[in-house]
Parts: sequence; C-alpha cells; structure tokens
Amino acid sequence: MNIPLSSPHVHSQYCDGRSTAEEMVQAAIRRGFVSLGISSHATQDFDPGYCIDPALEDDYIREIRALGQRYAGSIRLWLGIERDVYSIADAGRYDYVIGSVHYLRHDADTFSVDGDIDRLRAGIDRHYGGSGAAMAVAYYGMLGSYVRKAKPDIIGHFDLVMRHNRRHELFDPQEPAVWRAALDAMEEAFEGCRLMEVNTGALARSGAPEPYPSLKLLTHWRKLGGEVILSSDCHAAHQIDAGYEEGLLHMRKAGYDRMHYLGTGDQLFEIAAI
Ligand SMILES: [Zn+2]
Ligand SMILES: [Zn+2]
Repeated sequence: MNIPLSSPHVHSQYCDGRSTAEEMVQAAIRRGFVSLGISSHATQDFDPGYCIDPALEDDYIREIRALGQRYAGSIRLWLGIERDVYSIADAGRYDYVIGSVHYLRHDADTFSVDGDIDRLRAGIDRHYGGSGAAMAVAYYGMLGSYVRKAKPDIIGHFDLVMRHNRRHELFDPQEPAVWRAALDAMEEAFEGCRLMEVNTGALARSGAPEPYPSLKLLTHWRKLGGEVILSSDCHAAHQIDAGYEEGLLHMRKAGYDRMHYLGTGDQLFEIAAI
C-alpha cells in the first residue's frame, strides 16, 4: 500500500483487547507503520470489562509513554483514549481523544449498540416500543450532540448502530427518519470535529460488508468538507492493519484524494495523498 501506515484506534489488555500494548507496537513496527496511537476505552462506572480499570489508569499512561521512548527510533507512539458519552476519565491527560457512542441509557438501564444482541433487543423493546429505527434515531442524536459539545480529535465509528443490522434485522438505514437522523448527526458533529475515522475493525473481525461509515454517509461527510483518517480499531496484534486495502478503496470511492494519519513528529496529524 502506497500510504504511510498508521492507526489511531488500537485497544490492548488495558481494556477489551487481547494483546498487550507492547505486542501492538511491535506488530506495527513489523508492518512498517510510521506511527501508532493506543486508544483504550476510557474508564466508566457501569461496564468494567470494557474499559480501563480506574486503579490502572496511571499504569496505562506510564506504560504507553515508556513504550514511546523505548521504540522511539522505530515508530512515533501516541497516547490516546476512546471516550464515550458516559466516560468519567479526564481527557486532558491524553494526546488525543476519539469520541464515540457505544451506549444508550434510560435511567438505570444502560445497554450497548454493539455488544450483546439480546440486551440490545430488550432495550429496544423496553424503551423504543420495539422500534429499531427509533433506537437508531436516538443513537445518532446522542452522537451528534456529544461530538459537538465534547470536541474530540477524531469521531469514532460513526454508524456503529449498523453492527447488529447487517441484513437490516433491526431497521432500514434508508428509512427517512433514520437517514435524516444520521445526516443531522453528521452536520451537528461537524461543528465539534472535522476528522472522522474510516474504521475497518468490524470488516476485519466479523465480516461486515464495508467499513464504518457506509459509503453513502462517507460521501456526505466529504461534501460537508470533513476529513478522514484510516483506523483499524484492532483488538489483536495480528490485525494491526486488517482491512486497510478495503478502507483505502472506500475513501477513494467516496471521492477522497487525501487522508490524515497520526504524525511522526510533534504534529498530531499529518496529511498524505491517497
Ligand atoms: Zn468503539
Ligand atoms: Zn475502539
């Protein structure tokens, strides 16, 4: 691939990843990456298996910084975090933030749009009158307002709500209310962040038909003036750049001729032709 290889979206054993942070760094170096960002799920207080244990957050920061120094001759390492609406971690401790929505909450009931499908279906029944489309509208509404207010550096997996909807089991993404909500969320998010990831994680891990966001949504993002960054959202070292050929093609099909990637020096982002 004739692009500078990098990923801003990488998990490790500090959250729900299978490899250690060092294994991720070594895999990236073997693949010829110029830079890498580790972005564990920020601490929240209701789903401990999927985020940094608050007792280990200092260790996480120390270890990524130490790895950055140890491998400085081979790769530029950045300390990132993937924050959710309900995260409680202090974003100021990190080099950059990916802003994502994984959870919907109603009073004490919190469930994720990309986790256990039975819990998601139960949440749709309890809170959205059994309408997957109403749930999707709520997801997009939350994402748009979160990004506008939180101003992350990168918008994470914009249409994650498609995770369990590949054959439209829950809703039709082209249904007017859902499509309108997605476009409105994109326009609102654009006010808080101009950089969206093209995320190949589900494509590589679970056979999704295309990266996040879909080609139609990505094309709309380009027309708004939004920029893109390629990300693997990987949870295992052997998948450090999984799906990148498809991700690159996806960006080109949407009309992009350039992308951002994590910088190799002091600048957080650099730009490459694609
Ligand atoms: Zn995520
Ligand atoms: Zn992630």
